[in-house]
Amino acid sequence: MAELRVCALYPDLMNIYADRGNLLMLERRCAWREIRFRVTSAGIGDAIDPDAHDLFYLGGGQDRDQRLCALDLVSTKRDALHAAVERGALVLGVCGGYQLLGHRYQLGDEEIPGLGLVDLETIRSTDGSRLIGNVAIEVRLDADDEPRVLAGFENHGGRTHLGAGEQPLGRVLKGHGNTGSSGVEGVQRGSVIGTYLHGPLLPKNAWFADWLIRHATGLKELDPLDDELEDAAHASALRAAGV
Ligand code: GLN
Repeated sequence: MAELRVCALYPDLMNIYADRGNLLMLERRCAWREIRFRVTSAGIGDAIDPDAHDLFYLGGGQDRDQRLCALDLVSTKRDALHAAVERGALVLGVCGGYQLLGHRYQLGDEEIPGLGLVDLETIRSTDGSRLIGNVAIEVRLDADDEPRVLAGFENHGGRTHLGAGEQPLGRVLKGHGNTGSSGVEGVQRGSVIGTYLHGPLLPKNAWFADWLIRHATGLKELDPLDDELEDAAHASALRAAGV
């Protein structure tokens, strides 16, 4: 029996905008297909086993909670996460979680350290302004894929700048994206994906949940599901974004 083993990082602290719904979405879509689903929570102080999980999930958070988690991430989990990525495990970071995948999140004089899994840095706007609203991006997750659209909602004070060698996750169709002016959103480096899209993200984009399930389990095909409601949620999120 196929199995998806998820490690939820700080599900109590990094869960703004009900990002836990993303895990529920994965759990349901696996259960409906009789794929075994196991989720392990890793909080402050918990060590993680790089070989025990196929997908590491880090949701969004307020600056205060991000600070707490960042210090713990770099002191107790960084090496294990790098080792997990080396062997091809997926890492999905949403908003605050996305920011912590990079080198740093700069808040004025304070530097919140990141995992350094991707070459990016985030800088909090000096005037405190936030990038808020519905957002849609066009993505091509695998080189031979047709472009698809992810819909979501963003609310961040940080502006994320990608290093020269990094690829964004997608092109902004509507909304602000990484900086409000770069025209791109998120990051994708191999099995590491970061995005500002909340929603929660996966219930609004069932096809992306399935992409994660396929890549994390190694299954080539997934049984089709009745996605009438999910497709309606996706369409409504796109309408809200004005696409
Ligand atoms: N605290 C971060 C910011 O404001 C992330 C916010 C979030 O996760 N929505 O940029």
